[in-house]
Amino acid sequence: MARIAVIGAGMGAMAAAARLAVAGHRVTVYERSETFGGSVGRYAHDGFAFDTGPMLLHLPAVYRDLFVKTGKEPLERCVTMTQVDPASRHVFADGTAVSLPNASRAGVVAALDAALGGGAGSSWGAFLDRARDAWDRSRRPLLEEPLRPDWQVLARDPYPAPRQRRLLRPARQAGTVAEVGAWELADPRLAALLDGYALSYGLDPRRAPAAAALLPYMEETFGSWYVEGGIRALARAVYERCLARRVEFALGREAARVVEKDGRAAGVEFVDGTVAEAEHVVLGVRPRPGLVPGEALRTEGDGPGRGRAAEPGRFLVMLSLSGARPADAAHRTVVHPADGAAEQEAVFAGRVADRPTVTVLRPDDPTIRPDDAHEAVTLTATVAPHGTVDWTDPATRARFADTLIEAAGAVVPGVRERILHAEVRTPAETAADTGAEGGSVPGPALAGAQGAYLRPGNRTRLPGLHLAGGWSHPGGGLAHAGMSGALVAGLIVEGDGFRGSQ
Ligand SMILES: Cc1cc2nc3c(=O)[nH]c(=O)nc-3n(C[C@H](O)[C@H](O)[C@H](O)COP(=O)(O)OP(=O)(O)OC[C@H]3O[C@@H](n4cnc5c(N)ncnc54)[C@H](O)[C@@H]3O)c2cc1C
Repeated sequence: MARIAVIGAGMGAMAAAARLAVAGHRVTVYERSETFGGSVGRYAHDGFAFDTGPMLLHLPAVYRDLFVKTGKEPLERCVTMTQVDPASRHVFADGTAVSLPNASRAGVVAALDAALGGGAGSSWGAFLDRARDAWDRSRRPLLEEPLRPDWQVLARDPYPAPRQRRLLRPARQAGTVAEVGAWELADPRLAALLDGYALSYGLDPRRAPAAAALLPYMEETFGSWYVEGGIRALARAVYERCLARRVEFALGREAARVVEKDGRAAGVEFVDGTVAEAEHVVLGVRPRPGLVPGEALRTEGDGPGRGRAAEPGRFLVMLSLSGARPADAAHRTVVHPADGAAEQEAVFAGRVADRPTVTVLRPDDPTIRPDDAHEAVTLTATVAPHGTVDWTDPATRARFADTLIEAAGAVVPGVRERILHAEVRTPAETAADTGAEGGSVPGPALAGAQGAYLRPGNRTRLPGLHLAGGWSHPGGGLAHAGMSGALVAGLIVEGDGFRGSQ
């Protein structure tokens, strides 16, 4: 039995902690705030409740596996999960709207054909087929195994883009999300759909590799799931599973640095100068010089993910509304702007977009509203991180919140008149919740682009120090961070020979 110190109580770190405790280790999670869950927070007001982080779960298998491996009670006995159907509704700038059914490729194809015409469904279907090929090729090394020392195998894009013949110029394949949209998806609304997926994960469609096709493929294949009470209920279930496995939580304990002794990690020093000794340290927060010894940052496979600009964050407007939620309202509606390129230009140049892509979330959940004569609605947009934009500026916050409410009018008629209370959260608040600089939300790791979208491996050069959570392999997002926890636990329990669960 080893003493293991876990820094941060985010989802990746807690997933690692529960698994390590089951393997017989003495695990303590040191969290600087007074609660667990990190990004997966909750805001409650006058009988309304809202998630302040992710609001849907994709790939629930990751958490099912965690619950199976760490106890008798399966995930579905700890939280109530329902599939969201339609998975999403899309309103395009020309007024066309389409509802995409949950986890049904044939249903999505039929819906797109009916709404957009012109063979849009089969065009999207052919794209999904190529995305499935990319998934089959990269799934294991990208998601299910620790990052390989020869991570360069993932530097090549697995998406099999068809060669495009070009007049008097050599044939080319789409290399970015934007090129896939322009060259392979004949309808500009399909291109907007694909761009919207990329943006929702914080990716710039103009630069993100075509391999980002995996993201809509995963959502449309494995489905979108809602957890009753909000995703915060999932974080609570993971926390409670940790407690049941005798993981200790030390809240209000901010790590200042990982202690190194005789060439290996030996514990954690806190900001108050005290030290907790440990044989292994799991860092569940963004690794930065000072927090970890400089040498350790040169993780295995030096270089993946290097050179990427600061990643965007999220802007949320949580609306407490009078009036009932219509029974036929879609859970998630994406309102696409007329000029997606202008939005991308603004977000990735560190400015506030005039017309953002706005996602409207209307969960049908009586536990998050005072009664059925009220509705809790959240509006979100991907935005530049705090710092490039000053998200603490009241005027900037109010203006952008108003932009989102304006766009939401296309989905929730009369929304302004129904507002009882509006609460705004920006990357400035995310930075405070997670400690991530600028409130950036790490996107999932992607193959391609010479490895620029990979994350540092879970094993570091400092023996005894491992990385979990969204800033490490295989990247950010609920599912991906959960996978990082499984990989870290595997590496500590089985040693460096661990090659992922079968
Ligand atoms: C607004 C928002 C929207 C999101 N939307 C989605 C979505 O739609 N889909 C999706 O899949 N994912 C989404 N995410 C991302 C997702 O929530 C995270 O990637 C996931 O929860 C994994 O988080 P993590 O394990 O990296 O830990 P984090 O959530 O980053 O938590 C890190 C924890 O470590 C603590 N900490 C930091 N520094 C220290 C220190 N020095 N000492 C001790 N403790 C410390 C922090 O207080 C925090 O509790 C969103 C995130 C945010 C913020």
